[in-house]
Amino acid sequence: VARKIPRGGGASSASARRLPVGVRKPSLRVVVTGGAGFVGSHLVDKLLARGDSVIVVDNFFTGRKDNVAHHLGNPRFELIRHDVVEPILLEVDQIYHLACPASPMHYKFNPIKTIISFPLPCAAHNSSTSSQELDSIYLSLLIYLWTRIQLLQCVRSCYDEGKRTAETLTMDYHRGAGVEVRIARIFNTYGPRMCLDDGRVVSNFVAQALRKQPMTVYGDGKQTRSFQYVSDLVDGLVTLMESDHIGPFNLGNPGEFTMLELAQVVKETLDPGASVEFKPNTADDPHMRKPDISKAKSLLNWEPKVSLKQGLPRMVSDFQKRIMDEN
Ligand code: UDP
Repeated sequence: VARKIPRGGGASSASARRLPVGVRKPSLRVVVTGGAGFVGSHLVDKLLARGDSVIVVDNFFTGRKDNVAHHLGNPRFELIRHDVVEPILLEVDQIYHLACPASPMHYKFNPIKTIISFPLPCAAHNSSTSSQELDSIYLSLLIYLWTRIQLLQCVRSCYDEGKRTAETLTMDYHRGAGVEVRIARIFNTYGPRMCLDDGRVVSNFVAQALRKQPMTVYGDGKQTRSFQYVSDLVDGLVTLMESDHIGPFNLGNPGEFTMLELAQVVKETLDPGASVEFKPNTADDPHMRKPDISKAKSLLNWEPKVSLKQGLPRMVSDFQKRIMDEN
């Protein structure tokens, strides 16, 4: 979720902020929560490169100082160790809220904290219903209750529900308090600076192949995911922030791969001798995930540019260096 607070506090549209042709846009002061993390640090690079001042707020749970160390000493860069579950007062133009562990291994470590990393909801519900609607509402209610029961059993719920709640609350701030907001739904993303021990499939396969260990394929390996290179995501986030649209927008790469196909691409990129090893999958693993980005394409004129075969080598060289430094 990228949230934006307009100058002067009132609601304003992006078009109202647009400057006449030829007038240089003043640089903005931008907060990036989770700015020392994998995605956040790439966003920080882009914002600083275009002349903005950036304040990174990070608790370093999964973020690393190394990811932003190249900016230390830059007068337009500030780094604050702070946990977003605690209040903080900062005067800024834009906030990109990227602070939350995204890997199941990390977000399950402290599920309560995961859910409150997204702001907590304040919900008011008020509805009136005509009799014709009751049948379908009854059915919806059953589906809803079933979904609720499923969610209660599921250890991933802290993440999924936290995100859903954050979107609701973001819109409530927008409607109720006039805060200008943007909502992005980020799909599987990979690239340099991912945690080596992240537990995600791309980082696992690349780290395993580099360490000459077999790549661990969970289940039959026929489940699919779509992998987005981090620079495409960062471009999407900035494009969304600068647009007149609130969203939500899916930001992901629609190219779909089975885990076995991914292992094959890693093999071709990195080591033709790399092998795979099958391991049991978790019960709640989604069988397929592929973003529909038609809305982002048509309204934001954004689409990913970097294919898996182009992006993977860039990640491999970063992992290679870090794994060598470990030894
Ligand atoms: N996966 C795998 N081997 C690994 C890690 C993950 O086969 O070493 C599988 C996992 O079961 C899932 C897919 O890869 O089907 C993507 O998992 P990941 O944790 O990267 O992302 P998410 O499940 O959040 O999409």
